[in-house]
Amino acid sequence: MALLQISEPGLSAAPHQHRLAVGIDLGTTNSLVATVKSGSAECLPDTEGHVSLPSVVRYAEDGQTAVGHAALAMQKRDPQNTVSSAKRLIGRKMDDIDTTHMPYRFAASEKIIELHTKQGIKTPIDVSADILRVLKNRAEHALSGELVGAVITVPAYFDDAQRQATKDAARLAGLNVLRLLNEPTAAAIAYGLDNAAEGTFVVYDLGGGTFDVSVLQLSKGLFQVKATGGNSALGGDDFDHRLFCHVLESLDLSLTDDRDIQLLFSLVRQAKEELSRLPESRIQTVLQDGTRIDFRVTRTEFHALTQHLAAKTLEPVKQALKDAGVSKADIKGVIMVGGATRMLHIQQAVAAFFGQPPLNNLNPEQVVALGAAMQANVLAGNKNSSEWLLLDVTPLSLGLETYGGLTEKIIPRNSTLPTARAQEFTTFKDGQTAMTIHVVQGERELVADCRSLAKFTLRGIPPMVAGAARIRVTFQVDADGLLSVSAREQTTGVQARIEVKPSYGLDDETITRMLKDSMANAKDDAAVRARTEAVVEAEGLVAAVQAALEMDGDLLEQSERDMIAHAADALLQSASNDAADVIRRNIQALSQATDSFAAKRMNRNIQRMLSGQNINDM
Ligand code: ADP
Ligand code: MG
Repeated sequence: MALLQISEPGLSAAPHQHRLAVGIDLGTTNSLVATVKSGSAECLPDTEGHVSLPSVVRYAEDGQTAVGHAALAMQKRDPQNTVSSAKRLIGRKMDDIDTTHMPYRFAASEKIIELHTKQGIKTPIDVSADILRVLKNRAEHALSGELVGAVITVPAYFDDAQRQATKDAARLAGLNVLRLLNEPTAAAIAYGLDNAAEGTFVVYDLGGGTFDVSVLQLSKGLFQVKATGGNSALGGDDFDHRLFCHVLESLDLSLTDDRDIQLLFSLVRQAKEELSRLPESRIQTVLQDGTRIDFRVTRTEFHALTQHLAAKTLEPVKQALKDAGVSKADIKGVIMVGGATRMLHIQQAVAAFFGQPPLNNLNPEQVVALGAAMQANVLAGNKNSSEWLLLDVTPLSLGLETYGGLTEKIIPRNSTLPTARAQEFTTFKDGQTAMTIHVVQGERELVADCRSLAKFTLRGIPPMVAGAARIRVTFQVDADGLLSVSAREQTTGVQARIEVKPSYGLDDETITRMLKDSMANAKDDAAVRARTEAVVEAEGLVAAVQAALEMDGDLLEQSERDMIAHAADALLQSASNDAADVIRRNIQALSQATDSFAAKRMNRNIQRMLSGQNINDM
C-alpha cells in the first residue's frame, strides 16, 4: 500500500516565525488543549491550574453559560439545563441514541438532537462549541496571541455526520480546524515520535464513553494505521453504570428523582476512580427524601462486577488484529490511552491478552491532546512535515450500485486516508443519456444489504450503443474521512459530483453488525452475485440479438431465425428460474446459435464500409 503524505499546502511559515497552533482532545468526559512549546508538547492549564475541562455546559436562567468545573458542580442541582456527554449526541438523530438515563428535555426534532434549556434550544454542536470556545480562550490567554488553528481529535469510528458536526462546532467557536485527527492516531504520535520505535503497535483507548483500538505500523520514522476498530458505546461510563445498578440492587433502592440519580452517579464514579488506588471505597450521601446511604465496595467486588466489560473490549481488539493481518505475537507494544485504563483489571486483561505489560508511561488522559498538539505544530508550518507521515483508514468499504442491485467496491475498508480511486463504467442500454450513481457503504455484495449514502445523476451522456460510453467515477476521501464522488463521461467531458454528508451516522455496533453479516453471508452473497451477473449478461445478450435481428434479420433463413429465437427464449426462461451455471450454459447456447449470423453481419458491415457508410452510423 502506498504511503500518502498528509500536508496542508500554503501553510509553510517563514523560518523564524512561530505560529500558534493547538491540539484539542474534545472528550466525552473531559476536554484538553495542548501546544508545543520549545519543542515539547504540554497541556495548558486554566487559571486555577486544572488541565482537564469537564465536557459539561450549563445554560442558566440568567443567561449565563457555565462550562467545565462550574457546570459540573451545578449538574446535581440543575440536571435539565446542564449538558454532559454531548459527544454521544453530536451528529446523531433521536433514533440513534438511548435516552434512558438522560435528564434532558428533548425537542421533537427528527433530524437533529435538540435540548430545551433555560436559554432556549441547544444542539450538541452548540454545547461542543461552548467547550471549544473556552479552550480557545484559555490557549490564547496562555500563549498571548491569536491561534492559527487547531487539530481536533475524534474517535476513529466517528462517521461523516459526526465529523462534520465536530467541524461545525469548531467553526461556531471561531476555531480554524487544521485537521480532524483520530484519537488513537494522536496518541501514537505522542508515543511513536518520542520513542522512534519500529514494529507493530496497538493503541488501546478506553475513555469515558468510547473505546477505540488501532493497529499501527511504525518503521523508519514513518507510521501507518493498519486497522482500526472499537465500540463507541463502551467506556468508563459503563463501569459507573454497572456499579450504580449494584448499589441500587444491594440497597433495594429505586430512584425517581433526577437529582438523586445524578448525585449517586457522580459518587459512584468517584468510588470507581478511588478503587484504582485503594482496595476499598465508601459511598455516603443523603437523598432528597432524607434516605441515608452508606455503602462499601471493595476492589475485588468491583472487578467481579465489571470483568465482563473488560472482556468485551477484547472483541474489537481481536477483529482489528485480524483486519491488520497480524497476530498477538507480532505486537511489539500496547499503548494505553484514556482515563479508564487506570483501572487495574483493565491493565491486567490487556497484559494477559497480549502476554506483555502495556505501555503506560505517558499520562493516559493527556496523550491524545499532546499528540494532536504535535500534529498541529507540523500543520501550522513550525516543523518540516516531511519528517513524518501519518495515516488513517476507512472503517467500511465505499462503492456504488451497478446493474442488477450489486455493489461494486471502489474504496475497500481499511484503506489509508486521504485516498482517491477511480473506475470506469459504461451504459447498459442503447441510447442511454443519463446514469444514476448510487453511493453505498458496507461489505455485502447486494446493495439492499449495504447502507445507502447518496444518489446523484449524471445527465447529458451522448446517445451511444450500450457499452460504448466511458464514465469515469472517482471516489475521494479527504484526510478527515469525508467522501466526495464525481462522475465524468470521458468523450464529452460532462460531469456531476456530490459530497456525502449523511444526515445521520452509523454507530460502531452497526458497523460491527455489518461486518459480521458480510462474513456470515459471504457464501450466499457470492452465489447471489454470480447469478445476478449471469442474469444481467443474459438480458444484455438477448437485447443485442433482438436488435441485430431487426436490422439484419433478412440475412437469415426462416429456420435459422426460429432457431435463434428459440435459444433466446430458452435463455430468458433460464434467467428467471435457474442458478448461475445453468444460465451460463444457455448464454453459451445462444452465442453458438448466433455464430454464423454474426459472421454474415460482419461481412455486410464490411461491404457497407467499403461503399462509404460508417459502421457507427448504423
Ligand atoms: P474521554 O476521552 O471520553 O473524555 P477520559 O480519557 O478523560 O475520557 O477518561 C474518562 C474516564 O476515565 C471516566 O470514565 C473516568 O471515570 C475514568 N477515570 C479517570 N480516572 C480514573 C481512575 N483513576 N480510575 C478509573 N477510572 C478513571
Ligand atoms: Mg479520550
